[in-house]
Parts: sequence; structure tokens; C-alpha cells
Amino acid sequence: MEKTKKIWLDGELVDWEKAQVHVLAHALNYGTGVFEGIRVYPTSNGPAVFRLKDHVKRLLEGAKVMAFDVKFSYDEVFEAIKDTVRVNGDGVDYVKPCFFLGGEEVGLNPINVDCRLAITCIRMGSYLGEGAQEKGATLITSSWKRPWNMAAPAGAKVNGIYVTSCLAKREAVERGASEALMLNAQGNIAECSGENIFIYKRGKLYTPKVTDSILEGITRNSIMEIASDLGYEVFEREVSRIEAYTADEVFMTGTAAEITPVSSIDNRPIGDGKPGPVCKELQDIFHRVVRGEEPQYSHWLDLVG
Ligand code: PMP
Repeated sequence: MEKTKKIWLDGELVDWEKAQVHVLAHALNYGTGVFEGIRVYPTSNGPAVFRLKDHVKRLLEGAKVMAFDVKFSYDEVFEAIKDTVRVNGDGVDYVKPCFFLGGEEVGLNPINVDCRLAITCIRMGSYLGEGAQEKGATLITSSWKRPWNMAAPAGAKVNGIYVTSCLAKREAVERGASEALMLNAQGNIAECSGENIFIYKRGKLYTPKVTDSILEGITRNSIMEIASDLGYEVFEREVSRIEAYTADEVFMTGTAAEITPVSSIDNRPIGDGKPGPVCKELQDIFHRVVRGEEPQYSHWLDLVG
């Protein structure tokens, strides 16, 4: 991975190499952290962070779910993210803030273990590989199920939960696909390893509901709002694997993946196997929204300044 200059750690901007934790950090051993992935886009007024307010809110909600003793306020985290982007300069396109239990501790009890905050910026570029957004991505249904609400806080971006996503992603890549689709406890579609999913069938858009063991994606929310504004009917409801196989279009949404069409699932082409017009329309408008070219959605952008 290409290094950037500075990492924000517990209130200070330190050199990339100096952002270190101890091997006995609770989070390293037990996955006790919550994180966000946030995109930065170029606009005519300089770099802007997309939906920063919502990402900071979700980060703090995640910390609340984990009952972390957070030492930074909403405003401090918000400003710290902008500072980190600014200091790392042009070309930075992705920010990853992470609250983690950094105290050295052997033993599962997280109570009173020091909670730290790190904010890292990187240049990510295309997450699913060049061309995925134009040609579409191939999916397999993973043998790993999405951790469900009875066993894990699936609706929070908890570091430890991501081992399942990592296993699913590995399975997809080893089987020659770009992404893994994960089912929930009911056998319905939950989401991909790091993206929410939408299907377009008989003129309507469907996406699994928040209670289907998904992360309530901020890109998902943006697309639901944009699609509704364009006049599409959008429904949050259970989506079966069969409905996805036979949909006219399927696409994924996520901060890293943005809007990526799905060309096949388990070797079954979706529609004619090429990105469909609905996905393309939403991709195009999303592309303009994040670059500040759609005034109706300019409140979703926070200039780095
Ligand atoms: N699901 C999972 C499991 C994710 O990790 C992500 C990425 N944060 C998403 C969905 C998409 O969420 P968002 O649009 O907020 O990035």
C-alpha cells in the first residue's frame, strides 16, 4: 500500500511510520474496534468529503453499540477528518477513521480498556478493479453467511465482524469472481463483503431491509433518495437469491465500490450480462452528485477547505 504523509492518532497528526500500537492491544487480539470508510472527491471548490456528517454519526453510533468510552466529540471527529485529508494533500480519495481498544490487555473484558482514535487517508482509486464500474462485476454466493443480528451487531461497522467478509472475499477471488454475495439466517440476500445490493425487476427497485442483517449503507441511502427523486419506486424488503438471479439488473453500492453493476451471479448472467440502463442512469447522477455538480444534493458534501 502506498503511504500517505500523516495519520491522526489521538489528537495529533503523526508521521505514517509513527502511528504504532502495541501487539497486545485489545483490538488487535479481539477485533474490538469500529471504523468507517469515507470518500473524498474533487469538486470545482476543492476536495470535498461525501456525507461526512452521516459517516461521523454512524462511527459514533458504532462506538455506542460497543459501549466504548469515547474521548472525542462529534465536532472533534468531524474536524479531525477534514484536517487529516487537508494535510495529506491532493489525490487522497479515501479516509478510514477507527475507534479501537488500544489498551494492552489479555482477557476479553473490554471494560476500562483505553479507547483510541486513528484517522488514516489513502489513495484508493477503483476498489473493485479498473473497468468494474463499466463492465460489471461477477459475484458468487459465498458459503459464509452474513453475521446476523442474533450473533453480532451486523448493523455496526465493527472490526471483528469483518473476518467473515474477508473469508467471503477470499472465496470469491479464489473462485475467479470479483465479489461475494452473503445470505442471512433466513437464506435471503443480505449484502456483499463490503457493499449493499439492489435489484431492478419488473420496473421496481428492491434492496434488503436494515433488519436483514445488513450494514445500513450511506451509499445505499443516497441511491434510494436519488432513485426516488428520479421517480423510481424503491422498496426495502427481503430479496431472495432467485429474485437476484432472475432480475433485469443487479448492482452494488458502497463508499469504496460506489455504484457497480453486477454482470453475473454464480455464473448466471444478469439480464443480458451487461450493465443495464437503470444502473447506468444512477451511476451517472451519483458521479455528478459527489463532484458537486447537482445542486440539489450539495448538502451531502463538506469542503475540506
Ligand atoms: N456493507 C458492508 C458490510 C460494508 O462494509 C459497507 C462499506 N461500508 C457497505 C455495506 C456499504 O456502506 P456505505 O455505503 O456506507 O459505504
